[in-house]
Amino acid sequence: MESILIVPISPFDEQLTDQLPLRLIPILKRSVTVDRGGAMDPSFAFDTARNQFNSTKILAHLLTNYGEVPDRKILGLTVADLFIPVLTFVFGEAQLSGQAAVVSTYRLDESIYGLPEDSGLLLERSVKEAVHEIGHTFGLYHCHDFECVMHSSTVAEEIDLKRTDFCPRCVQMLDQVLPGRESRQR
Ligand SMILES: [Zn+2]
Ligand SMILES: [Zn+2]
Repeated sequence: MESILIVPISPFDEQLTDQLPLRLIPILKRSVTVDRGGAMDPSFAFDTARNQFNSTKILAHLLTNYGEVPDRKILGLTVADLFIPVLTFVFGEAQLSGQAAVVSTYRLDESIYGLPEDSGLLLERSVKEAVHEIGHTFGLYHCHDFECVMHSSTVAEEIDLKRTDFCPRCVQMLDQVLPGRESRQR
């Protein structure tokens, strides 16, 4: 059975990071732990022209540094603002059927939209985006069910429409990628 390792990336929200495993375990039905080896420095992925961090470079770095355990998924978690070159920003990125995923909580936070801080809402959105990106590493594509956690969200309000867990169809697909059956998926 695969496990999930959360790797904090500077700067990161310590309280939120500590709250995530207890929320993710019942949804993903796999062990979830936080790496305590010190936060990763993402300066290598910083784009000075955009003042953001390249999430694809972060994924590659996570894989190089934490990818040695084959059955372990790696979830980078950061407050740093992420982008991929074709988009103005991303909430996260993941390797489809791969090992690495990353989530930024920067744009999940109401305060960046000039609204009052809401740590409860920030946690709910973070759970959903973490489950979503990890879902991609298990081979799940975007889902048409707008309440399913695998539905694609382009703005934070759309995340609020989703549940924190998978629709029955996605659950079924997730169950099919248990160890021993994984080779059939690729
Ligand atoms: Zn997605
Ligand atoms: Zn679904």
